[in-house]
Amino acid sequence: MPLRLAPASVLFAAVTTAALVAQSGLAQSGLAQAGPRPDPLPLPDGYDPALWRRALEVHRRAIVVDTHSDTTSRILDEDFDMGPRATTGHMDVPRIFEGGLDVQFYSIYVAASYFGEEDLSSKDALGKSRANASARRALDMIDGYFRTIDRNADRMIPCVGTRDIAAAVAAGKHAALMGIEGGHAIEGDLGLLRQFHRLGVRYMTLTHSNHNEFADSSGEAVPRWGGLNRLGTKVVLEMNRLGMMVDVSHVSDDTFADVLRITRAPVILSHSSCRALASHRRNVTDDMLRAVAVNGGVVQINFNCGFLSEEYQKQRDLWNSKVTLRGKAIESVHAKGSPEYEAAMARINAENQAPAAVPLATLIAHIEHAMDVAGADHVGLGSDFDGVPCVPAGMDDVTHLPRITYWLLAHGRDEDEVVKVLGGNLLRVFAKVEEVAVALAAEPPQRNGPDDPEPIAR
Ligand SMILES: [Zn+2]
Repeated sequence: MPLRLAPASVLFAAVTTAALVAQSGLAQSGLAQAGPRPDPLPLPDGYDPALWRRALEVHRRAIVVDTHSDTTSRILDEDFDMGPRATTGHMDVPRIFEGGLDVQFYSIYVAASYFGEEDLSSKDALGKSRANASARRALDMIDGYFRTIDRNADRMIPCVGTRDIAAAVAAGKHAALMGIEGGHAIEGDLGLLRQFHRLGVRYMTLTHSNHNEFADSSGEAVPRWGGLNRLGTKVVLEMNRLGMMVDVSHVSDDTFADVLRITRAPVILSHSSCRALASHRRNVTDDMLRAVAVNGGVVQINFNCGFLSEEYQKQRDLWNSKVTLRGKAIESVHAKGSPEYEAAMARINAENQAPAAVPLATLIAHIEHAMDVAGADHVGLGSDFDGVPCVPAGMDDVTHLPRITYWLLAHGRDEDEVVKVLGGNLLRVFAKVEEVAVALAAEPPQRNGPDDPEPIAR
């Protein structure tokens, strides 16, 4: 029997499992009202037992959402199975349930090396040419996502909207969604953007670290378009029309400003930290945080040590260059992959320890800074798990997520605000984006045209 569902606007205020389930009409269906549970989890060293119990209760009550995981890269390149508990990486299904992570956006990540025709001889780990293979790489990632869900269908449910997230959480399953990382995945083609939406992709990070056909990235020093070009405007408007969240992580400050001026729906930053605390061009300034608040969007804080601490990044760059230099010297003597090469590399790695991870307190400081500047309604979590070389000590993998809840409560943050940061804010934005798409449904689709590379009027 079909369920009677409330309109998306009713879901805006729904930030807890119970509220989302009740307001979506699922409560009458007799489904259990529980997503992945964070307990039983041992008391971490130095944590207050009573506060830890309260944190686990609040964490369980929340719908916990993470907007960025690169586990899809492991799935595709290493044939990684998320089903069993793994000893490597940051997440798998058993650890997701242990950490109480209800909703994950899996990154359909397309590296910059797949963009353009510069290097026809470049091959990827699967032996495929990288030249102009951006869309195909995205499709390979999507295939990996669906294969993983097929393998784990008893515990994971593919979702494309707030209503099926509510249903998945009510059924005690992990809700899995897709977001494209790197707008070059659509190869400048608005038709391809629509096809990715049909396949279930619900956000797109307009750029990765490279400029593309329609937008500038924070990863390149010299601007190409000075923000968005005309095609970029069409991409944003088409995403609004389709109900795909516009993600402005990774983009240049000019692109960010252009997007916020033209978007008809709230935006997200799926995995970005605060520039006031760590001066990385990929992080957001306080002005950007305030602009996101005015737009009604949400900044999902990235866990990567290098984005949380300038000092860490400096040390890491030094360490990288040292190890790379010595590795090149070994390569000139021993063939790459030979036992002699591997032994020499192991020695180098043992002699050159990577810098120590930043403490968990640094991550909490970024979350609270964003809450103080943008407001508690505009902050969330975008871990970048399985996509970064270092996560804070004490946030070693997804099982440690309830520690964020603990520290926010320990610092006197209001329970309702904590629940919003854990996922309610992202769900509110997603529901609003869905509502805007319904309002724009009668608009004709955007079309590619000869003026696409032209600059826009600012
Ligand atoms: Zn990224």
